[in-house]
Amino acid sequence: MSNKTDLLHKDRDAAKKSGGWSRFFGPVEKPSTTPIDNSHLAQMARAFEDSGRGWFWSTDGNLSLTYVSDSVCGTLGRERHEVIGQPFESLFRAERRADTSSKRTLPFQLRTKSKFSNLELLAATDDVECWWSISGRPEFDKAGNLLGYKGSGLDVTYNRQSHDEASRLSESDTLTGLASRYRITRRLEAALTAYKVAKRSCALMIIDLDRFKQINDTLGHQAGDEVLKQASQRLMRVVSKDWEVGRLGGDEFQVIMPDIDDRGELGDAARKIISMISQPYTVDGVRCVIGASIGMAVAPFDGITSEELTRSADLALYAAKNDGRGRYRFYSSDLHDKAEDRRQLEDDLRDALDRGEISLVYQPVVKAGTNMISGFEALMRWDHPEKGPISPNVFIPIAEDANIIAGLGEWALRQACEDASKWKGNARVAVNVSPIQFANTELSTLVASALSNSGLTPDRLELEITESVFLGENADTDNVFATLKKLGVRLALDDFGTGYSSLGYLKTAPFDKIKIDQSFVRGATESGNRNAAIITAIVSLAKALDMETTAEGIETLDTLDLIRKLEVSHVQGYVYSRPLFNAEIAERLERGDLEIMPTGHEVHRNDRKTLFRKIGVIHEDHRYDVMMRNLSKSGVRIEGLIDVPIGTEFVVDFGEGQLAVATVRRSNDTSQGLQFEIPLISDGSDGLCTRHRVSPYVLAAAGMPLAALPSGHYPLVGNEFAGKHDGKPKSMPRFGQVDKGDALLRVA
Ligand code: C2E
Ligand code: MG
Ligand code: MG
Repeated sequence: MSNKTDLLHKDRDAAKKSGGWSRFFGPVEKPSTTPIDNSHLAQMARAFEDSGRGWFWSTDGNLSLTYVSDSVCGTLGRERHEVIGQPFESLFRAERRADTSSKRTLPFQLRTKSKFSNLELLAATDDVECWWSISGRPEFDKAGNLLGYKGSGLDVTYNRQSHDEASRLSESDTLTGLASRYRITRRLEAALTAYKVAKRSCALMIIDLDRFKQINDTLGHQAGDEVLKQASQRLMRVVSKDWEVGRLGGDEFQVIMPDIDDRGELGDAARKIISMISQPYTVDGVRCVIGASIGMAVAPFDGITSEELTRSADLALYAAKNDGRGRYRFYSSDLHDKAEDRRQLEDDLRDALDRGEISLVYQPVVKAGTNMISGFEALMRWDHPEKGPISPNVFIPIAEDANIIAGLGEWALRQACEDASKWKGNARVAVNVSPIQFANTELSTLVASALSNSGLTPDRLELEITESVFLGENADTDNVFATLKKLGVRLALDDFGTGYSSLGYLKTAPFDKIKIDQSFVRGATESGNRNAAIITAIVSLAKALDMETTAEGIETLDTLDLIRKLEVSHVQGYVYSRPLFNAEIAERLERGDLEIMPTGHEVHRNDRKTLFRKIGVIHEDHRYDVMMRNLSKSGVRIEGLIDVPIGTEFVVDFGEGQLAVATVRRSNDTSQGLQFEIPLISDGSDGLCTRHRVSPYVLAAAGMPLAALPSGHYPLVGNEFAGKHDGKPKSMPRFGQVDKGDALLRVA
């Protein structure tokens, strides 16, 4: 048999096996007028397949494979029967982090049933790297139901690898024009080697864009590239000219800042960068918003080699992201523990619902004019078996990142509807919906099911949505709004004013209520505070759009007075009530007791951190252990020393090389108020830190090995300040110390 006949036989066999070529190309109903008929097409297709460069695929309406060319099975090292019937996406490897490759858009294209071409994806091979360029076209029946996809793939491994190699070695990043990863990494290595000899410091900043993936997923790869370009230009505009900026890949950037160790200066730079990058972008006439999180580390304090310093900056970035994004963080050694804690929490959270640790509490929402309850907001609680109650501000973002929010959110929605359906009367229930749940087109189906299972009427259910659902807004967002409205549920815009700088979406999104965030309420009564003016503006905006307003977080009677004067229609806050258990409100509603009187005395502040930890204060030749509390930028209150005169100067040792000179301004019994000579600065999170630290170069000069600052304080620092010579103190301690156990009791 000649090769040619052999090929034709093979053709027939393959066509038979896979249901025939006509199945793939579709039946040819009319005889073709061109000389190429179906069998020619089949032969050409087969030759193309056999060349090994290209292949074909098709799926059914559920996106399960109904056909792939043999070469695909060969490349993946799987049998045909192991491939057919599997999801189309299983042909590709999961997304690689530092790569903005088009894999990100494949699920989106499939979900939106759109046509796509030339998506470059990594084949799901075990060992060798193989890149495919994929195209596909959906087919629908007359009613618009998806019948399946048909498409082709090309092997582009060679092009891709040589491109990768070229860009890896190239000095500048082709998309943004910034230094490439290759260059910036080499620059950092070179700088740190030279600076170590010259005893110079060098700061490293790693910037990661927030919500960039959403832009890529919703607006497409090209729009993503455009945003990256614009963000890079903005970055270049804010940084100082002797800093070097590079793109590490994906949406990650790096800035090398020579001769800076002042964390005040670094914090200012980080704030400026975050605010510049967070301004809206316009891409092809579409407005979109991203943010930035920043991690910073300074050599030699946080690392000597480029590897060490990069690891420290990375860890700080991770912490900044976990703190809620749009923030910066400096490296500190306790971040290692925090990262570990978070991983542990994430693990625990996965089973928390099954173990019955998750519950709902309900906080009354009250009409400001009449003190009558109009509804309740359902708030999730997690009672951790060892750690106790964990704030939703901590566990909800973890659930969102770890893909467990959908399950928790569904449970909350069903439970809240179930509870509210048993309440006497018409009080509404509001349920928080994460933007991640909102991005799922199944949300309206879930809401409908929760309503019908519980029997709750739709107008008694209010969904609270935050502004971030409008980031990278697309047609889907409008559709979800429309279907939810059709169900008859109410929609509230939560945390208004905290995230998004455009008001445009208010014109079209059908909200019934705007919830004014606590941050606008806080301080509104203080003279000179502009929050009252902002609230007035929000109220008139809401009135013009025929929406209600709820002020969140009202704690005191004077704020309540102000809120009423500003004509906010509803109030939610401790001034009326904390969140309550379902049994408590069910009983209250049973009595028909809807009026609730504000009380301003009890101010609960669950979220305020009680700050007491051990620090050192150094005076003359001595170092004393004291308890710290009420730390502010300008001063600290300490407990543990007796009879310290006003005017005494101390060096406060916060650990990790952070020393601050301070003077005693107030003193009574065992507690002193100290004022810092140089105020502390924000660490980007809720904490404070000193601008400068003891340099490892200084420590090295005094005999310690040159290394990044360890945690805690150092014997050497103690010696240097406490003047221990030959192991003997020079003078007697000046102040008496309270017994440590006693001090702890007093502070707690
Ligand atoms: P949110 O939706 O803005 O809820 C209001 C938060 O303010 C609640 O905090 C509430 O306890 C608190 N609050 C109410 N009145 C006062 C007051 O007078 N003073 C102060 N300081 N706080 C007050 P909570 O329960 O800790 O929840 C925090 C956030 O966690 C919520 O903010 C919401 O964004 C999220 N969350 C809570 N439950 C859920 C849920 O079931 N699903 C989702 N996706 N998010 C939830
Ligand atoms: Mg809410
Ligand atoms: Mg809120």
